[in-house]
Amino acid sequence: MHRVMRVFLAICVALAAGKESEGDGETKPYRQILLFGPPAVGKGTQAKKIVERYGVCHISTGDMLRAEANAAKPSPIGKRAKAVMARGGLLPDDLMIRMVKKRLRKDKACRKKGWLLDGFPRTRLQAEALLTERRASLRPDAVVLIERPDELVKEFALGRCTDARTGQTYHPVYAPPPEELYDQLVWRVDDTYEALERRLADHKASIDGIIAAFEAGGVPVRRFDNAR
Ligand code: AMP
Repeated sequence: MHRVMRVFLAICVALAAGKESEGDGETKPYRQILLFGPPAVGKGTQAKKIVERYGVCHISTGDMLRAEANAAKPSPIGKRAKAVMARGGLLPDDLMIRMVKKRLRKDKACRKKGWLLDGFPRTRLQAEALLTERRASLRPDAVVLIERPDELVKEFALGRCTDARTGQTYHPVYAPPPEELYDQLVWRVDDTYEALERRLADHKASIDGIIAAFEAGGVPVRRFDNAR
């Protein structure tokens, strides 16, 4: 079976297991989900599928920051994000925590339909900010952790490009773009060798603390292997 579908079906089974709802005691699929993993692990592809299947809102902190950075008139946060992202660094915890909580609090559709949060948390402090949140609509009820060996992460990240018009991702080996799209392909500024090394190192430095925080907080963590 194709790798993307194999992982997606496994995620569906895990999410459907769900939790008992407080109102009627019925088991409902998880609806406040964290999507977690190293860069270029396939989170974007799986996010699209999960959102379609479960009708939850997709909140990607990377997309939020890129939108701020690429705005016609970038805000101070946008300017800062552009510089930090280009070198593969992380924005400060307090800024990211405020940004995510504001979005979850203010977006009524997300509160109603549930959400898939992608790219947050990146540090233990960010994880704890969600776990200690009093409002139930801001607390995750499951973590989907996608994994892939470093060598494969590098191969995917250093080759991937995106169709600027549709957002579809391509790769010269695994998903070659059709020739007619060549003129509209773009590359992420942080998919360079140096930035990727830094992003991977940050991920490795924080993952154990983040997982430990969720496990201690009683949030189930499900792991999915996205190697070939
Ligand atoms: P992503 O699209 O999730 O890979 O994020 C792209 C970049 O945005 C990251 O390399 C960071 O520079 C920044 N970023 C995204 N989410 C966070 C976060 N939760 N904390 C700090 N920086 C972040």
